[in-house]
Order: sequence, then structure tokens, then C-alpha cells
Amino acid sequence: MICLGIEGTAHSIGVGVVENVSGKCKVLSNMIKIYRPKKGGIHPREAANHHALYIADLLKESVSKAQVDFSEVDLISFSKGPGLGPCLRTAATAARALSLSLNRPIIGVNHCVAHLEIGRGTLDDCKDPVLLYTSGANTQVIAFAEGRYRVFGETLDIGIGNCLDKFGRTVGLDFPCGPQIEKLASKGKKYLELPYSIKGMDIAFSGLLTAAEQYYKKNESLEDICYSMQETTFAALTEVTERAMAHTEKDEVLLGGGVASNRRLCDMVQTMAHDRDARFFVPSKDLCIDNGAMIAWLGVLMYNSGIRMKVENSFIDQRFRTDMVDVSWHD
Ligand code: AMP
Ligand code: MG
Repeated sequence: MICLGIEGTAHSIGVGVVENVSGKCKVLSNMIKIYRPKKGGIHPREAANHHALYIADLLKESVSKAQVDFSEVDLISFSKGPGLGPCLRTAATAARALSLSLNRPIIGVNHCVAHLEIGRGTLDDCKDPVLLYTSGANTQVIAFAEGRYRVFGETLDIGIGNCLDKFGRTVGLDFPCGPQIEKLASKGKKYLELPYSIKGMDIAFSGLLTAAEQYYKKNESLEDICYSMQETTFAALTEVTERAMAHTEKDEVLLGGGVASNRRLCDMVQTMAHDRDARFFVPSKDLCIDNGAMIAWLGVLMYNSGIRMKVENSFIDQRFRTDMVDVSWHD
């Protein structure tokens, strides 16, 4: 089965084509266009206009790169949510148009679950992991328990990526700021005390963000602030992930989301996994960031487990939570 997936939850629009090869995901193509605002944060309508501008070409390019014909695509899937309304609607509209014109079934999928399933689908031996999902807007620790992917811990305010991007914007870095903060952090030497907020299994970042901005105003070195932000936030993320692993008695940990590209975060989680005799997995960068291939792969899993959706019911859901999905395909 070949599935084309359209991802459009936030600042990027992606189209991926995947094939189901004996239950594993073969990525045939995975193309992304990223909206980068000239100033400030992401304006949902402007991001959606960007997606509308590029989606038609992206569809053609992705199918051509996959070396398939549109007629060979068996299924169309799209990101149903969670995300920004105008962006979700643009991706869903493109998926509906394609489904109707090719006369192929359509399926809307949960974006956060897709981040987990692409790890299981593409990495050998990654079967039942705890996912630390760290992206711009989302920060969640997710694992399968009793028929659903449950959220064991999450941010109570902003996502870790947003925290880094907001700080970066304050100090004049270009969006997305995470990679530049990683570079600056690697030169940091002095640890500056920052709030370490874990509440139960949840995390908060906004107090830390304010404290980091105050250090900047007091002329502390940018390298030291970036270093301290990474050490503090990543330690908190690792702690919550470890607790979820202990609670669920799982011995695999998987990273997902754009912040998973960060070497220091990978190292911390890997060390924790090693200490627990657990296995550590991180997909390639193009499968960690928001991408169409993961949406396509979750479409395949859902369709093969008997789930069906009619075009007239292919709604988006901005607040589509991870634990709202009935996971009938997990063994
Ligand atoms: P996503 O929302 O999953 O597409 O991921 C985008 C987020 O990942 C943005 O907030 C980026 O700043 C962040 N990001 C990307 N690369 C890195 C990195 N190397 N270190 C930290 N954050 C990163
Ligand atoms: Mg994401």
C-alpha cells in the first residue's frame, strides 16, 4: 500500500509518500516547505497562506521524487490536529481535493501519535517506546497503555521549542533559534541558576524564560545563558521521561520533534537510558521535525486496522489530544 500524507499543523507544510513493506515504513519521499516570519512569531493566517501557495507544487514534487504516479497512491492522509486552525484547514482541504479527484480514501490523523509511530515504523527494534516529543508548540511524554497513547507528562505553558525561540527572538536571533542556541550553548562555561519547574509529572518553562531574559538584561554572557537554559530544561525533560519509563516499566525511549535534533538533549536522554539498561532511539532529522511521511505512515496503520473516514466527516480538530485516539493497530 502506498499512502500520501499531508502535514500542516503549524509553520511547515509537508508532503510525504510512504509504502508499507511487510509492516515496516519505507519512505519514498518527504518534502517540506517552512514558513519563516520576517518578524515576530507565527501568524496562523499568514502561515496558512504560505501553505496554500506551495501545496500544489509540493504534491507534484513529492510524488515525482517518490517515483510513483498519482494513480498508484492508494490512500490520502492529513494532519487532523492538534495545531493552528487556518494551517490545519489548508492541509485538510488539499487532502480532500486529492481524495476526491483520485477517488481514493481519506484519513485524518493525530499529529503527536504520528511522531511516535514513525519511530516504530522506521527503526528496527523500536516496538513499545516512551516518546519524549519536543517540538515548537508541543512538549509531551507519551507511551502506550491500555489501548491508547497516554500523556504521562507535558508542558503546562509553552513548548520547549517556543521557549528557546522566544528567548532567541529577545536577543536578536533568527527563527528558528534552537540550532543557534545549541551552538552558543556549546561555548558556555558558567552555569547560571534558573527555575527548574517540575509539577508532578508536568513541566513549565515560562518562569525559566523570564529568568533567562533577565540574565540577558544584566549583561550575563549569551553563551552562558544558552548553556544554562539547555542544561536546566533538558534535565527536567529527561527526569520526567525517566519517571514515565519507571512507571510504565518500558525499556525503550524514543525522541521526536524538532528539538530532538539537539545533540545535548540526545546525550542526556541516552545517558539516562543507558543507566536503566534501556534502548535509545532517535529517527533521522527529517523524520523528527514535522513531516508528511509520518502522517502518511499513521494513515496506513489506521486504514489497515479497519478505520475509515468519509470526506464529509474529515474535520480538523485544533485541540485533538493524543489520548483521544483509539489505538486499534498496536499489538
Ligand atoms: P517542530 O515544531 O517539531 O517542527 O520543531 C521546531 C522547533 O525545533 C523550533 O522551536 C526550533 O527552534 C527547534 N529546534 C530545531 N533544531 C534545534 C536544535 N538543534 N536545538 C534546539 N532546538 C531546535
Ligand atoms: Mg510536531
